[in-house]
Amino acid sequence: MSKKSEEILALYKSKVMPTYAPSVVIASGKGVTVRDVDGMSYYDFTSGIGVNSVGYSHPKVVKAIQDQAAALTHCSNLYANVPATLLASKLVEISGLGGKVFFCNSGAEANEAALKLARMWGAANGGRYEVVTFRQGFHGRTLATVAATAQAWCQEGYDPLPVGFAYADYNDLESVKAALSDKTVAIMLEAVQGEGGVTPATAEFMKGVRALCDEKNLLMIVDEVQAGMGRTGTWFAWQGYDVKPDLFTCAKAIAGGLPMGALVSNAKLADTFGASAHASTFGGNPVAAAAANAVISVIEEEKLLENATKVGELLREALQGFVDKYDKLLEVRGKGMMLGLVVDGEAKDVVEALKGQGLLALTAGKNVVRFLPPLTLGESDLEDAIDMISDALDCAFGA
Ligand SMILES: *Cc1c(COP(=O)(O)O)cnc(C)c1O
Repeated sequence: MSKKSEEILALYKSKVMPTYAPSVVIASGKGVTVRDVDGMSYYDFTSGIGVNSVGYSHPKVVKAIQDQAAALTHCSNLYANVPATLLASKLVEISGLGGKVFFCNSGAEANEAALKLARMWGAANGGRYEVVTFRQGFHGRTLATVAATAQAWCQEGYDPLPVGFAYADYNDLESVKAALSDKTVAIMLEAVQGEGGVTPATAEFMKGVRALCDEKNLLMIVDEVQAGMGRTGTWFAWQGYDVKPDLFTCAKAIAGGLPMGALVSNAKLADTFGASAHASTFGGNPVAAAAANAVISVIEEEKLLENATKVGELLREALQGFVDKYDKLLEVRGKGMMLGLVVDGEAKDVVEALKGQGLLALTAGKNVVRFLPPLTLGESDLEDAIDMISDALDCAFGA
C-alpha cells in the first residue's frame, strides 16, 4: 500500500467509529471499475453493496444529478416536486401493484415504514401487530429492523429490542405456520436472502407464504432492498415468482448511488398511512429522485434486466466450473447478478485473494463469497474478471 492510502486510512481509524474496517480508499469509478487514491484499479463485483447497478458515473445519471442539483436540491415534503412524483408513478407502473409509494432515505428506513404501516393496518384489523421474519434474513440496523433481523451478531448488545417479532426458518412453510399467533399481522421476507448467504426462496415457499397470508388475512411484505431494481433479472425479485406482495421495500440500487428508500404498497394499503402518520424530511429528495428516474431509463434503454439474466448466467457457469475444480468450493447459488459461492472455510480469505488480483467481492455470512456486479457488466469484462477469479482461487486453494 502506498503513502496516500496509508495516510487516509490512518486518519480514518483515528476519527471514524470502527464499525467498518476498510483497507482500500476509493477515489473514483467508471463503468464496472473503481480506482483507489494511489491509482490501483479494481473490478467492482460489489457494486458498492448492490448500489451502483448501472455502473459508476453513468453519463445519464451524472447529467440528471447535475441538472437537478442546479435547479432544486431540496424543498421539503410540504411541497411536491416533479422528479419524486414521476418516480412514484413509475414504481407503481413497473411493480404492477396498483398502489402508492412512501419515500425515505435507506433500506432500514423503508423497512421501518413497512413495519409501521403493517402495525397501523393491524391495529384496525383485529388489534394485531406481530410480524414473522426469517432466520438468516437481514432488514437493517434501526432498533425495529434489528429486531426483525433474526441474527445474533446483529442484535447483541442492544437489549431491550422492540417486541412484536417471531422468527421462522426460510424455505420452510411449516415453521412459518408454527410462528403464527392470533397477534400476527404480517410475514416479511427477502425473495433472495442477501446478507444471510445469497439464498433464493423456492417457488413453492413464496407461493405458500402468499397463500398463508390470504388464508389468515396477513400482509406479505417483501424486502427488495438488495435483490430489487433489476438485480435478479426482473424489476423486483418477487416478480420472478407467481405472487404479488402487499408491500415491498427498495433502497440500495434505486437512485444509482444517492441515498433513497421507498415503500411501495398495493391498492388495499395505499391510504393506510393518513396525514402526518409517517414522515421523512429528505424522503423523495428531488436530486435522488432525478437520479432514480435516470437509473430506471438506463435499465430500460440498455436492456439491463436481460443482461442481468444473460451475463449472470455466464458468471454462474464459470463459478460452477470452479466448484467442480476445487474441493473447498461447495455450491453456487442465487439469481441473475446476485450470486453466492459457498466455501468450505472462511469466505473472507477468498475475498482477500480476489482483492489481491484486482477484483472486489463481498462475503455473505461466514462461508459465502457474494458477487453483485453492476448490471451493465459486458461479456469481455466478465472474461477478464473470470481470469482474475481463477488466479485468486489458485492462490487461495493451490492450482
Ligand atoms: C442492505 C439491506 C438493508 C438495509 O439497508 P440500509 O440502506 O443499509 O439501511 C435492508 N434489507 C436488505 C435485504 C438489505 O440488503
